[in-house]
Amino acid sequence: MDNLYDAVIVGGGPAGLSAAIYLARARYRVLVIEKDKIGGQITITADVVNYPGVASASGEAITAIMREQAITFGAEFCSAEVTGLDLDAQIRTVTTTAGQMRAFGVILAPGAQPRMVGFKGEAEFKGHGVAYCATCDGEFFTGLDVFVVGGGLAAAEEAIFLTKYARHVTMLVRRGEMSVPRSIAEKVEANTNITVRYNTVIDEVHGDSVLRGAVIRDTASGAVEQYVPPAGESFGVFVFAGYAPATEVLKGVVELTSDGYIVTDDHLKTARDGVYAAGDVRVKPLRQMVTACADGAIAATELERHIAAMQHETGLVPVVPAQARPAPPAEPETASPSTGGGFLTPDMKAQLGQLFGGMTRPVELRASLDDRPISAEVQGFLGELVGVSDKLSWVVGEPSDLAPSINVWCDGKATGLSFHGVPGGHEFNSFVIGLYNVGGPGQPIDDATAARIAKIEAPTDIKVLISLSCTMCPTTVMSVQHIAAMNQNVTAAVFDMNHFPDLRERYNVMSVPAMVVGDDVHFGKMAVGEVLDILGV
Ligand SMILES: Cc1cc2nc3c(=O)[nH]c(=O)nc-3n(C[C@H](O)[C@H](O)[C@H](O)COP(=O)(O)OP(=O)(O)OC[C@H]3O[C@@H](n4cnc5c(N)ncnc54)[C@H](O)[C@@H]3O)c2cc1C
Repeated sequence: MDNLYDAVIVGGGPAGLSAAIYLARARYRVLVIEKDKIGGQITITADVVNYPGVASASGEAITAIMREQAITFGAEFCSAEVTGLDLDAQIRTVTTTAGQMRAFGVILAPGAQPRMVGFKGEAEFKGHGVAYCATCDGEFFTGLDVFVVGGGLAAAEEAIFLTKYARHVTMLVRRGEMSVPRSIAEKVEANTNITVRYNTVIDEVHGDSVLRGAVIRDTASGAVEQYVPPAGESFGVFVFAGYAPATEVLKGVVELTSDGYIVTDDHLKTARDGVYAAGDVRVKPLRQMVTACADGAIAATELERHIAAMQHETGLVPVVPAQARPAPPAEPETASPSTGGGFLTPDMKAQLGQLFGGMTRPVELRASLDDRPISAEVQGFLGELVGVSDKLSWVVGEPSDLAPSINVWCDGKATGLSFHGVPGGHEFNSFVIGLYNVGGPGQPIDDATAARIAKIEAPTDIKVLISLSCTMCPTTVMSVQHIAAMNQNVTAAVFDMNHFPDLRERYNVMSVPAMVVGDDVHFGKMAVGEVLDILGV
């Protein structure tokens, strides 16, 4: 039973990774299923200063180490979304977009996701002025007015961050004070580029292709005000109104509070034997990385007893593959094109050499170049990348109006995958995975999804507009590239918007990732299934 595990962990954030470390170290066969980015929510935080033992580090760096620890102990990882759980039988079944997994025990650690506020126009203008990620979209509002909706820590931190770009930031705080430590509130209030308006909410945004006005209300006096940006300008609304537990798929499966949080006992067990919850997703007083990690450790050690009993009862002992499955080629480190030095560290070269060395077919990268400095960066990047494996090569290809671009070829044919710019920052990993999917064997995909991809018969050109600092972009990029790698009728052209401002104008894009199919623009992180839904197959 290849797909039988001692434990399946839903979610690869700090809670899931800690649970994986403990279970794998105890020599159980454990699988972490992550639909997006290993590391979870904290990966968008540049500077974590309250995780004990780490004076200051990015969330991405801390969780990359957790992931390495789990892999070292033999944990396996699967890049897929959990879409259903059957917890009735003795051996539990976890249904994912990459197929079904079976396990004696399950740890639920899917964390939380940003909450929408619900003002009029919020959904309609998402991506056209309403945003949820300052690091992803802040630069699109350079020189414009920006409103930040929310009064918590994320809103305060992001308001300060947005002053890097915006002409002025106005924080709209629903209550009479911010719900942050006084020291942080004072820092925000002292910033001359930020105005904090208490007891104030946004009721509506409106516009044409971008935002042209907002209705703001003082909840104390009831006074309503129309905000209109200077003539010809747009503006931005960044919403940081907290997080909601990611438990849609768990409704009716385990007990949830009316807010959607999972109810556990003090040992983190749900009402079902062998099913535990850990991290931000459960009812608890403090949602931080340190408590998420502690939860993971507790859930794992508690679950061990159940697993041992199940092994004894069934006579089945899941076997950890002799060579733990190669880890998904995920974010060990981030390549940065702006450092001026090399793109790849020795560790990255070693990991990439192993990954590309395992490809079944060589991949050729054809570069279309122009005379912009970015084209020189593309050449530097390619020179270094192909040096890690003889399965990769690069040549100068045909000139193009959309240069610079790296066009991916295999078996003497264009595969339809291209990256316009230098695939550094958060896109390095997705670029590597795209090559791996072209060269084969590629990421696993379930039969039903593969059949949907095969159904695309009409030529389908997809553009994905991204920025290298966007943490949500790689998911959509990887999904579209995966589909294009499997179906010759589909092309996936990824554009770094910094170097292609005309596209941004043409499609009125104020948020990334933006997926363009024909004239339609779709915003946000998208898994393969969601892209296929949009393509109508
Ligand atoms: C802006 C911000 C700043 C923060 N700063 C700090 C800080 O400085 N210090 C600190 O200690 N904490 C901080 N936190 C809180 C901290 O990030 C969380 O407490 C912690 O990440 C919770 O970990 P978790 O593993 O429970 O959940 P998450 O980190 O949310 O991870 C859950 C994972 O599960 C995945 N997932 C969800 N559903 C599915 C599914 N159906 N299938 C597969 N995978 C799924 C998600 O993609 C995600 O990667 C911050 C949070 C935010 C948002």
